[in-house]
Amino acid sequence: MFDSDALNEVEVGIAIWDAVDKLSWANTAYRDFYGLPEHLMEEGAPILEHLRHFASIGLYGDRSPEEQVKLEHARFLNRADKMLLDYRLPDGRVMEMRHAPLAKGGKVILHTDVSGFRAYERTLAENDPITGLPSAEAGERMAQSLIDGSEGRGSEGLGLRLRILRLGQYESAFGIGFTNRLIKRFVKKIEALLDKDAVFFRAGGSEFGIFSLTRDAHNLGVSLSKAILEALKLPIILKQGGSPHSITLSVSLGMSRYPKDGTTLGDLWRKNRQIMLEAISEGENQARFYTGKLDAKFARRAKENLQLAEDMRRALRQGEFFLKYQPQVQASNHRLLGCEALMRWEHPDLGDVSPDRFIPIAEEVGLIGELGKKALVDACTQAMAWRDSGLPNMVLCVNVSRLQAQDPAFSKTVEDALQISGLPAANLELELTESVLAENLITVSKNLEQIRALGIRLAIDDFGTGYSSLAQLADLPFDRLKIDKRFVEQIGSGQDALVRAVILIAQSLDMEVVAEGVETEADVSALVAMGCDQMQGYYFSKPLPADQFLNFCQERF
Ligand code: C2E
Ligand code: MG
Ligand code: MG
Repeated sequence: MFDSDALNEVEVGIAIWDAVDKLSWANTAYRDFYGLPEHLMEEGAPILEHLRHFASIGLYGDRSPEEQVKLEHARFLNRADKMLLDYRLPDGRVMEMRHAPLAKGGKVILHTDVSGFRAYERTLAENDPITGLPSAEAGERMAQSLIDGSEGRGSEGLGLRLRILRLGQYESAFGIGFTNRLIKRFVKKIEALLDKDAVFFRAGGSEFGIFSLTRDAHNLGVSLSKAILEALKLPIILKQGGSPHSITLSVSLGMSRYPKDGTTLGDLWRKNRQIMLEAISEGENQARFYTGKLDAKFARRAKENLQLAEDMRRALRQGEFFLKYQPQVQASNHRLLGCEALMRWEHPDLGDVSPDRFIPIAEEVGLIGELGKKALVDACTQAMAWRDSGLPNMVLCVNVSRLQAQDPAFSKTVEDALQISGLPAANLELELTESVLAENLITVSKNLEQIRALGIRLAIDDFGTGYSSLAQLADLPFDRLKIDKRFVEQIGSGQDALVRAVILIAQSLDMEVVAEGVETEADVSALVAMGCDQMQGYYFSKPLPADQFLNFCQERF
């Protein structure tokens, strides 16, 4: 049938499975990768035996082997889709498995050792390709080794966080190429002011970090922040389309001192960031040191957040979280397209707590994984129940937090939710905000690809509010773009051009567009005139509890 000698030469493991899940043939690379015993290499060996062998050599990590074998088996039985999955062996090797269903039944799985390639991807992730600066992770590591190397010599350290303000506007006005050149020139200016041993990194989007060892961190902070603000007063001249533009960048700086303000880098960066955000709220080109005494408002808020974080753990156990569903409609014929699942927290003392409040806290205290998983499983289960009770086919949208999107296990969580609920992948859409793209882009885009490969749809939420580059968006596999309600609000106040531009951008990227926060008849007609026909907002319906959503649908559609 085929030349098995040649296939035994290749460095890709090949296993061919027949329609009843028994081994037809496998090559030697496959055997050698996993140290399979000879009896498992014989024709007719059952897949389950192979999966158990994989579990025994630690291919599935330290998760419960039985459960994992079950999950992997279900994955294997999926004949509808091609799949691409990475597994890490305890010896550090990363194996990629590529499932390809065969037309006549059965399946081929190709196994590739991608350890080298993944390591290369990691180096790419260590450097920002635009500026050549270290990434946030790499920068943090470098700063840590400076600290480690200075131990016992009584040095202090200055941590400085810096954000370029309104960078997104330059991109909207002049494009991504221009903005990248602007950032490069900015980086050159800053580099010229730094000691050669200082660590300077790009923390993501428009934020940068500096760490420097010194004898007197306070002194260095005063002089460096002054020098930075002074240097930025001189405009950067850049040409675009033949004509020169003069740009004066505004920034905001937050500083903290090692070891006075924090003895770990994580702690220092957090304080830097906090103080930087405070500086931003005070105006442009402000530099501030962390003082230890946050103003009263900050302190009260921080205390409340701690309490909420505590309450949240209990609330998750006691079922205080539930979902509401907001319809999305086609404006031209009022057809129901789908709905967005929105998390609600009914706090026993405080009443409704807004997701804008509890999601960031959940992210900060590490509960977002659990909460996000709950949203996925509950929403998919609900959507499946609606399908079973005869509601028309529709898309269910679930929001995904930045941290979920960065979790290497995320696509598995999503896959599990589909399996548990039975909802077809094509009925699920995941919403991610632009800020998702600012950090760990490699992990994020890999997750997005895996999710897309499962047949799930992807949408960009709150488009227009974050800083993402259009070039990036064009490269990522999004199906739909949601225009933020802040844009929709501007309709009728003479700002229609902005909304129109956003719709055109989406269309040029070949995405569907849905407008959020549609509240009035006038919004609807203006949006339709601009070519946006998909809408969500109070005009059609507020987010509804599951039973009311069902009534709404039965009455209206
Ligand atoms: P979002 O995903 O952009 O959701 C749309 C928000 O706009 C919702 O706020 C919705 O209630 C509100 N909205 C809808 N129509 C109108 C309208 O006509 N006028 C006005 N003024 N507002 C409207 P909500 O439910 O408070 O959620 C806020 C944000 O919290 C969401 O914004 C989303 O980013 C986040 N969120 C909610 N549930 C989850 C979740 O399960 N996971 C994650 N990660 N985030 C969630
Ligand atoms: Mg959303
Ligand atoms: Mg939104």
